[in-house]
Parts: sequence; structure tokens; C-alpha cells
Amino acid sequence: RKFAEELETVREDAVGGGVGTRIMVYVRLRPMSKKEKESGSRSCVRVVNKRDVYLTEFALETDYLRLKRLRGRHFAFDAAFPDNTAQQEVYNISTAELVEGVLQGKNGSVFCYGATGAGKTHTMLGTVQNPGVMVLALKDLFAKIKKHSRDGDHVVRLSYLEVYNESVRDLLSPGRPLVLREDSKQGIVAAGLTQYQAYTADEVMTLLQRGNLNRTTEPTRINETSSRSHAILQAIAEYKVPQETGMVVRAGKLSLIDLAGSERALATDQRTLRSVEGASINRSLLALSSCINALCEGKKHIPFRNSKLTQLLKDSLGGSCRTAMIANISPSNFSFGETQNTLHWADRAKEIRTKVCETQEELSVPDSMEDKTKLLHQMQKENQ
Ligand code: ADP
Ligand code: MG
Repeated sequence: RKFAEELETVREDAVGGGVGTRIMVYVRLRPMSKKEKESGSRSCVRVVNKRDVYLTEFALETDYLRLKRLRGRHFAFDAAFPDNTAQQEVYNISTAELVEGVLQGKNGSVFCYGATGAGKTHTMLGTVQNPGVMVLALKDLFAKIKKHSRDGDHVVRLSYLEVYNESVRDLLSPGRPLVLREDSKQGIVAAGLTQYQAYTADEVMTLLQRGNLNRTTEPTRINETSSRSHAILQAIAEYKVPQETGMVVRAGKLSLIDLAGSERALATDQRTLRSVEGASINRSLLALSSCINALCEGKKHIPFRNSKLTQLLKDSLGGSCRTAMIANISPSNFSFGETQNTLHWADRAKEIRTKVCETQEELSVPDSMEDKTKLLHQMQKENQ
């Protein structure tokens, strides 16, 4: 609680605006891993206070035996999470407010950005014992619905998809790649994407675990799962509102995104999309940086159409959405370059402005909803 109170004051004098007017940017430092410790790495990142991090660049001394501090730089964010920050705390600061908004029909999205191994999946998914933002957000959403609304007022529909190599796959019911379509009411939608109705956080964890087994793994690096795939969990909370013309369904959409490892995209940031086509570079991530740059520069045309990811995230970045970004970093000096890139990128993202409005349109509910709910219960039985 103390952390949250202190942050309130911090936020007010931050870049200007607050939740809802610009992207909120957080940085999370992970603990030094056993492997990093054993190979003698030194920590090059320090979380100085609730919002500042200090990055030190080391250089080898001429005798090649010692590391010398070369230079350092401060970065300021909406919050900086030290390596012992609990999952719940990360959730409370970064996402809880957005979940509150979703219940009032405001869209929200949170994405984790950073190099492979920096802690994105830990932050978003976590483990059964120590669940991350995706699970905590849904748990909170269900709890809030239970507290504030009458039975059956709200319906939560979940979908979980992956963008890998510019193809969109349904992680909850794997099959053919999905086609993206522009829907006049819902924006860009993945045609045929399964939507499950869920009621408890346990159901969500079951779904996510099952979905994650379907995430694409790198053929060359079996142990490093999903470093090139983006996973997107979407929860749509629908509720009925009485209007003169009858009942109208309103909906708030929460998107939680575990991005692919940023290392490849960053190294080639200066190149154009065309020149990297075919190369083993993540087109979607590169397109995301282009969109962020264009948004920062206040350009009229934002190249959302350049990749599947940016099409899917269009209303999370440029539209009526509250957005939070969590930049994940490793403390090791061996990852200095990646950490520096991530911090620069995150620093840039603070400049993006967004606007929020409620979704008023009537949304159609898929007919097959009941079947999906049945399927979910069946799946859970199988899992037990
Ligand atoms: P990424 O998804 O960015 O590639 P992971 O989330 O898989 O990285 O994290 C890499 C490793 O570091 C995992 O073993 C994970 O459990 C561990 N890890 C990451 N962040 C934390 C943290 N905040 N606290 C403890 N362990 C962490
Ligand atoms: Mg990961």
C-alpha cells in the first residue's frame, strides 16, 4: 500500500497526464540467475528508488582482470520494480486500475517487453505457485464482478492466441492459422478464434497452461520456448445496460501480451521492413517499434497494417485504450546491450498518448458460447 501511495505523487509529476492519457511504462528487474552468478557476471542495473533505475556500463581494464565502471545513465519510469518485487505488487501497480476500467467498458492492455530470458513470461504467466499478471488480473476481474454486479450481469469471454512468423494461431484450439478481419464494431478480429467463458481464476490457469503447451517453440533452441512468438490473452467483459431502446450490451476488453524476445528486432531497428523480409527477424516486433516511433512523433499515418501483431494491437496503442508496458530486464552485465536497448525503448514509449472512451456498440455474442463452456469443464475434468 505504501508503495502505491508514494507512486501517486510520483505519477503526478511524471511526464504529464496519467493512466488513460499516455502509455504507463514500468520496468521490472529480475534477480540474477544461478547461471549468471556462476559465470561471474556483475550487476549493471540498480533500482535507485520507486521510479528510477541506474544503468552502469563496465569496461575491461587493460590487464583484462578487472571490470571498471565506464559510464552510467539514469532512466525514470512510472515505477521501477526491484528484483524482489512480488507478482501481486507488480499487478497492483501496473494492471489493477486497468481491470477496474474494463468493468466500466474501457479497454485496457498490458504488454511485457524485453530480451529472451529477461522475465516476460514470469511476469505475465508466472507459475501455479506464483501466478503472474494474466492470472491475477482475471482473478481480480472475477472478484470485482462478484462484488459489484448482480448474478449473471457480466459475462467474461477469454481467448488466447499467438503470433508466430506472421501467422496467427489459436492457442486454445490449435488448428489452421487464423485470418484477421476488420469488423466494423469490434475492430480487427481473428476470424474463428475460440472464446471460452470462464468464471474462476483456476479455470483461467488451466486454460493458460493448456494454451502455453501449444506455443511454438524454437526448433533450434528447444529449451528456450517461445522466444519468437507473441502470446496475447484477451478477456472481454460484457454487461447489459438498460437504455430507452432496450438492453444494450457494453463491453470492456483487456489484452495481456507476452511479446517475443526483443533482441533480434532491436539490433536492426534502423533497417526498413522490406530489407529484413525473409531474414530471421521478427517482423511483428519491428513493426511495433515503427508504430511506437510514429505515435511518438505524432504522425498522422501509423503503420499498423505492417504486421499481424500491430493489426491486433491497433486499438491497444492508438485507439481508445489505457495501456501499460512492463519492460523486463536482467541485472547481468553480460546482458548490458539488451538492457540498454530495452530501457531506451521503454523511455521512448512514455511519450505515446492514448485516449479512452467507452465502447457503446451492441456486440453480438457467439451462438456457440454454451458449447465452449461445456468444453472447458470437460477439459478441467481431464486435467484432474
Ligand atoms: P522471458 O519470457 O523474458 O524469456 P522468463 O520469464 O522465461 O523470460 O524468465 C527467465 C528465467 O528467469 C525463468 O527461469 C524465470 O523463472 C526467471 N525469472 C524471471 N523473472 C523473475 C523474477 N522476477 N523472480 C524470479 N525469477 C524470475
Ligand atoms: Mg518467455
